[in-house]
Amino acid sequence: MTEEKPLYGAIEAGGTKFVCAVGSGPDDVRALERFPTTTPEETLARTTAFFRVQPAPPVAVGIGAFGPLDPDPASPTYGHITTTPKPGWAGTDFAGAIRRALAVPVAFDLDVNAAALGEYRWGAGQGLDVFVYLTVGTGIGGGALVHGRPLHGLVHPEMGHVALPRAPGDDFAGHCPYHGDCLEGMAAGPAMAARWGRGAETLPPDHPAWEIEAHYLALALVNYICTLSPQRLILGGGVMHQQALFPLIRRKVQQQLNGYVQHPALGEALDAFILPPALGDRAGVLVALALAEEAT
Ligand code: ADP
Ligand code: ZN
Repeated sequence: MTEEKPLYGAIEAGGTKFVCAVGSGPDDVRALERFPTTTPEETLARTTAFFRVQPAPPVAVGIGAFGPLDPDPASPTYGHITTTPKPGWAGTDFAGAIRRALAVPVAFDLDVNAAALGEYRWGAGQGLDVFVYLTVGTGIGGGALVHGRPLHGLVHPEMGHVALPRAPGDDFAGHCPYHGDCLEGMAAGPAMAARWGRGAETLPPDHPAWEIEAHYLALALVNYICTLSPQRLILGGGVMHQQALFPLIRRKVQQQLNGYVQHPALGEALDAFILPPALGDRAGVLVALALAEEAT
């Protein structure tokens, strides 16, 4: 039965952890392993070791990775992580290392694009022409799905690095090594930890941190609404595990738009317009499987 289906490999490469899987599709995951993201050498060695010990090697591997990265197959640096602030990873030939180690075709895209594709196929983005998937975790990244395809252009969108007006009285310097107080610098998990002296996961729902967090996320969403006109905004990533954020963000989005963009999605249907992913945190790795399938 399922034994005869080709097996694909999937790598979801996050700034904090890697998730690797082997399976024939989202309903048939045969093995899955999570481990922390450390140096490129150690992490990629652990990744290839995971695939090598599988009873059957994958026929192709799909990678959804943190960026910035080079997703253009025609470019000499295709498959590289490029200017990431993550120590040691800038310039890493990620896709090449996996391709050489396992001798299989490799598909390579941003983690958020992979997650967005998963929501489009199986989750909260089904049937939509345009939507945005934003992840708020170690970094902040956004994927725009346009007619079923991740929006690529010059490189790929960098929705986490937009500049935003500060919350009233906020004098936190910001945590992005490139821009200081961009969205990621003000609102990603490490920025929250730097601002409050403790991890975001330890902050209770009534902590003032969440009001400030919602300020920046809502302003960013308003910018995406005004530039891309998405039919839905899906918010995932570790920081969004704080469910109290959703109502705060929805209210601030309405306040900031101030009635200018008119649509029921921004009124009575707001809860279905700004919402968590349907596939939860497994989306990325499931879609990396789908990416692998497309690479064969
Ligand atoms: P990655 O960025 O590696 O994919 P995550 O999306 O899980 O990983 O993001 C990790 C960040 O999410 C950390 O900064 C952590 O503090 C934060 N985080 C994890 N769980 C929670 C939680 N329940 N509430 C708020 N923040 C959380
Ligand atoms: Zn930045």
